Amino acid sequence: MSKPDLAAKLEILADAAKYDASCASSGTTKRDARSGGIGSTTGAGICHSYTPDGRCVSLLKVLLTNYCVYDCLYCINRASSGVRRARFTPEEVVQLTLDFYRRNYIEGLFLSSGIIRSPDYTMEQVVRVARTLRVEHQFRGYIHLKTIPEASPELIEQAGRWADRISINVELPTPADLAQLAPEKNLARIDQSMQVIQARIAQGKAERAESPRAPAFAPAGQSTQMIVGATPSPDADVLARADQLYRQRKLKRVYYSAFSPIPDASRHLPLLAPPLVREHRLYQADWLLRFYGFSVGELTTPAAPDLRLDVDPKMAWALRHREHFPVDLNLAPRELLLRVPGLGVRNVDRILRVRRWHRLRLDDLLRLRVPMKKALPFVAVADHTPHRLEAAGALRLLAPPADQLDLFAPAPASVRSGEL
Ligand code: SF4
Repeated sequence: MSKPDLAAKLEILADAAKYDASCASSGTTKRDARSGGIGSTTGAGICHSYTPDGRCVSLLKVLLTNYCVYDCLYCINRASSGVRRARFTPEEVVQLTLDFYRRNYIEGLFLSSGIIRSPDYTMEQVVRVARTLRVEHQFRGYIHLKTIPEASPELIEQAGRWADRISINVELPTPADLAQLAPEKNLARIDQSMQVIQARIAQGKAERAESPRAPAFAPAGQSTQMIVGATPSPDADVLARADQLYRQRKLKRVYYSAFSPIPDASRHLPLLAPPLVREHRLYQADWLLRFYGFSVGELTTPAAPDLRLDVDPKMAWALRHREHFPVDLNLAPRELLLRVPGLGVRNVDRILRVRRWHRLRLDDLLRLRVPMKKALPFVAVADHTPHRLEAAGALRLLAPPADQLDLFAPAPASVRSGEL
């Protein structure tokens, strides 16, 4: 078989990289450059990500290679997979990055790789790309490198020296899950590598506080990704792992990626992908853990270890704890305001500012663009006190309006199969 040229390699290795969820536009399907059209980028490996200051940047997102000696069952690039394979040289990735950057297609690079020969050999190649860009070409754009936990600490140290962000994927929430689907990986080793990175980031910050000219180490921090729905582990396990990573390893972000079935999959994998809304609920819960003062034990319970799919996690908590409501927006402390469905951090801070000057009324909430339908059953203001909350009543109030079925539209699958 002939060797793929650079464009064919880019097609294979950009496609192989799309399963990593750490870029905001990874899941889009409508912007495939192969079908043409202005603004089409996906097929060429361009995705979007957010810098720590909230800027959206476009990145060239590729694998150095999709050959891999590991055989993680959930991965399309595993050793036993029949996918087309390709491999860039580090120089080719450098050249692609510079070409795309000069044409203004991208502002940075997101580079990952399957493992070839050994973790150290692969990591060395990945680091070489970043070092060449930074040292030989004075590249100042954003670089995110995926690191391999089994690689030596010296190589991880070098990765952090040249990259803005480095990440190691924990992949699955529990050691038992990893033993089942990715036996070559080990949570303890992953954690050790994260610990090395954490210590080095802290040291880098301290050195720069003393001398701003000291070299930075992964200034955008470290992140990770977890696949959801490949094993029966409930959301409680996923969130517990994420919470531990935020608290103990000070991760900047945990990304959740709903498992997507792959061709020739192992019988240990589910046949169907989990509903996408599960991924969405996990991101909402993650936000509640980081910015709203919730704990994992409040968002899931032993009796209900999965997040509800029909309502968001904050609403689910409020419906389980109706004794805390209604919350008086003119008196309640910030921590309690943050627990009111429909009130985000920004609105809570505005409410605290406004109520210093006058008692809040419904008009104020409208001006603050508080989602009234969601919030009103849970709040009291000067001219509004809700009736005692009833879960069923509140849910009825919050349910989306019923949809009239179209006589000519195909019936839902459940109706067609008669399982009503
Ligand atoms: S090590 Fe990475 S690329 Fe290789 S099979 Fe596992 S998840 Fe896939």
